[in-house]
Amino acid sequence: MSAPAPPDPDAVDPRFDPDRYLEALRAELPGLRVVEKERDGFSRAIDLALKLVTFGAQRHYMSRYVTTIGRTIYLPRGWAERDPRMRWCTLRHEAVHLRQFRRWGLVGTALLYLVPILPMGLAWGRARIEWEAYAETFRATAEAFGPAAARDPALRAHVVRQFTSGAYGWMWPFPAQVHRWIDAILDEVA
Ligand SMILES: [Zn+2]
Repeated sequence: MSAPAPPDPDAVDPRFDPDRYLEALRAELPGLRVVEKERDGFSRAIDLALKLVTFGAQRHYMSRYVTTIGRTIYLPRGWAERDPRMRWCTLRHEAVHLRQFRRWGLVGTALLYLVPILPMGLAWGRARIEWEAYAETFRATAEAFGPAAARDPALRAHVVRQFTSGAYGWMWPFPAQVHRWIDAILDEVA
């Protein structure tokens, strides 16, 4: 009998393995699709539209952002090269959106995303939708990297920017309020 192989230092902890998590999501959400933005004409059209309506403030749609619409997760360039735990955390965020689409339907979610109060500058519906998902980002980060990582000021600054900048069309340009939401979720994960 041969000796057991030494543990592989590069092996992904199965609890935070993005591929395993995706399989679990497929079981939870039948019809789930995963598409690469680069190979998808619909994604290229969204990319162009976002650049136009945000005057170029959102120009990283293809290169940085993972997007969920309906039962489809759209992946940006370089996704496979990202740290597996980071991918797991991102999928936790996207899973919230998949469940929102299941809860409200494609049209209901799209209306909530775009209509109240204004499509840009004061997008209360979009801010609520994204807050529910970013709260999960903080929870997942604490689970995968430890509570100190969830409290990293760089993560906080990144999330505040998502709400207050053109990244999501200036959806909720009130940093003090976003900081209070983050304080509340960090209390929860502590
Ligand atoms: Zn999101």
